[in-house]
Amino acid sequence: MNILRKQFLAHVGQTSPSPMLVEVERAEGVYFYTPEGKRYYDLIAGVSVSNVGHANPVVVKAVQEQAAKYMHVMVYGELVETPQVCYAKLLAEHLPADMDSIYFLNSGAEAVEGALKLAKRYTGRSEMISMRRAYHGSTHGAMSMMGQPEGEEWKQAFRPLLPDTKAIEYNDFEQLNAITERTACVLAEPIQGEAGVRVPQAGYLEALRRRCDEVGALLIFDEIQVGMGRTGAMFASTKLGVTPDIICLAKALGGGMPLGVFAARHEIMDTLQTNPVLGHITTFGGHPVCCAAGLAAMKYLLEHRVLEGVEAKGALYESLLKDHVAVCEVRRAGLLLAIELGRSDRLYRLMEIFKEVGILSDWFLFCDTAFRISPPLVITEAEILESVLLIREALDRLQNELP
Ligand code: PLP
Repeated sequence: MNILRKQFLAHVGQTSPSPMLVEVERAEGVYFYTPEGKRYYDLIAGVSVSNVGHANPVVVKAVQEQAAKYMHVMVYGELVETPQVCYAKLLAEHLPADMDSIYFLNSGAEAVEGALKLAKRYTGRSEMISMRRAYHGSTHGAMSMMGQPEGEEWKQAFRPLLPDTKAIEYNDFEQLNAITERTACVLAEPIQGEAGVRVPQAGYLEALRRRCDEVGALLIFDEIQVGMGRTGAMFASTKLGVTPDIICLAKALGGGMPLGVFAARHEIMDTLQTNPVLGHITTFGGHPVCCAAGLAAMKYLLEHRVLEGVEAKGALYESLLKDHVAVCEVRRAGLLLAIELGRSDRLYRLMEIFKEVGILSDWFLFCDTAFRISPPLVITEAEILESVLLIREALDRLQNELP
């Protein structure tokens, strides 16, 4: 083992006993490279982050220019900073009408924390409902909303978590009755990511919206994984035609830099201003360099009409993989795919083979029988075809070893 890997294991805090240990020298487009010159297809884009590709020159330029002008100056929300204002304005233009107040933070979990606090503050209620097999982040509040019972393994070790939380089954119309006048909010991913890509049944999100309206609960959509173009629309909720009261975004939002937001109508967001003032505080939230990067990335998606190609690219992967004998099912939303193998031992072995053939993929937190394909949205047809050859080669080997 080389010295850097030894130092990595010795000094970089580990949360897994078996990290991949692949060293990155540089990344470009849909690839990253090791110092030995091995090329990997990045088929997860840092888990739905690098939508405009690694080292996109437009984003790199925006980062460099903003870093040279100013970086951190003052805690969030006091000074008028151009990248923040311009990005908030652009986001507001593309979010559903009147969701035009944008609160910037540093990550997805933080966006969820802020959204939960906002819902409690606005409704004056405390009960918070989430969906089974949901992942919303690893901080205490976000973890409290992790779907049960699947999240139990993670949650149990960290109890007590937030009180007055419960999880209902995604796509179960009956269980919507659990949402009552006591409920401050329902936190849901419109399309579930870590559950292994689960899409809503016809009418489900509409029924969820109706139930929240009936009882005065706020509907929070977590689009941290599926927002910013992953499904072929800038936001999955606009594509699905259901508008939440609060939306959480992160991951691709920063164009590769750390950035999160929760956004809402002014009427809701403004409750954080009084009783008490400074209802939510962050030092680095909306960092000007991160906002400049995110703004450049979103403009790139729009100006290069990247989203128009997303559905066809996802469908191409699906059509080229679904007939392989090792594949039981393909679940998909745009360029977010779960390739179901039906068995976790096969999945774990496939990850090792992928490493050898130069594919970076992973499984889902609540579905370790399927592997993920969520490459940068700028992936070309030729790159899809070549990566499919490598995936099929790996699946062939898997089929021989573990039929
Ligand atoms: N919500 C969803 C749907 C996610 O997929 C994730 C991360 O995977 C998060 C929230 C948490 O985001 P972060 O890791 O930036 O805290």
